[in-house]
Amino acid sequence: MAQRRSALSEFELIRRFFTHRSRGATLGVGDDAALVRVRAGNEVAVSADMLVEGRHFFVGAAPDLLGHKALAVNLSDMAAMGATPRWATLALALPRVQVRWLEAFSRGFMALARRHKVDLIGGDTTRGPLAICVQIMGEVPNGQALRRDGAQKGDDVWVSGQLGDAAMALGAIKGLVRVSPRERRALEQRLHAPVPRVGLGLALRGIAHSAIDISDGLLADLGHICERSRLGAVIEWEAIPANPIVRSRAQTDRGAQALLAGGDDYELCFTASRRRRSDVLRAAERARVGVTLIGSMGRRGRGDAPVRVLDSVGKPLAIRARGYDHFR
Ligand code: ADP
Ligand code: MG
Repeated sequence: MAQRRSALSEFELIRRFFTHRSRGATLGVGDDAALVRVRAGNEVAVSADMLVEGRHFFVGAAPDLLGHKALAVNLSDMAAMGATPRWATLALALPRVQVRWLEAFSRGFMALARRHKVDLIGGDTTRGPLAICVQIMGEVPNGQALRRDGAQKGDDVWVSGQLGDAAMALGAIKGLVRVSPRERRALEQRLHAPVPRVGLGLALRGIAHSAIDISDGLLADLGHICERSRLGAVIEWEAIPANPIVRSRAQTDRGAQALLAGGDDYELCFTASRRRRSDVLRAAERARVGVTLIGSMGRRGRGDAPVRVLDSVGKPLAIRARGYDHFR
């Protein structure tokens, strides 16, 4: 950085807020690059996710929650790969140096990092419009990653947790859906402080054939599994797990949109053989996360949508909802 002087130099800022003793790296923050050693027999899973002010979060968003979420969305990618998260880097563009903002941001980020034993091993800090880019690295035993292209014909389709909360929270914040203050707090918690399903991803290794985390909505993300696996999916509308606040609005366009295309939930969607149902349930129990069977994978007919949604009598739902796409 070092374009303009401020009360805190770039160097001091990094030392004060982003230098922590690293346990899992050979060399952490402070050199030109960090050094890590991968355990024998493992591959490295690498992913990055960027949060931009005004695009992924509101101007003035609480910094501790931003710190949490910036790491949580990346941990969610590790979860979806069945990888053990190990190291992260943090590239920050800051409009100005505000000690209180940095303190809170770093607190939120590091609290979640410690919970998952992830080391912050480097990054970059520059002046600019507020943007947060985290890169995460994890380990997964050779050949055992949960990929999008592994689904098989006849597989069950499962999702963890409940869908639509984050989208419903956005609706409430924008004044488009009316909820009680208590409901709103619960929904906002899910939007601002998502819980990455890392334990579930690990427990599903060797059981699930494919997995993805739901960041752009169920239809879009399950659609990615379909495309990559060259199959189609059929899911039951009534089976999609939703909390009562969302389910009670499921007949409205907004409710349906939240359930099928709501982004930002960070639950896992995965497929596994029908014969492994009890193994899936045991894995979920071990990870202390609910999972719900919502459909199955099959051949994709010519002209079929990748994901078809059936109502309670087996009739295809006319779907207007689509996943979130930044460029549409
Ligand atoms: P260089 O000029 O070699 O890129 P920097 O001066 O940008 O190095 O960074 C110094 C050290 O601080 C490096 O180890 C870098 O990885 C680390 N670092 C910089 N910004 C951050 C940050 N926001 N979070 C964690 N580490 C950071
Ligand atoms: Mg640099």
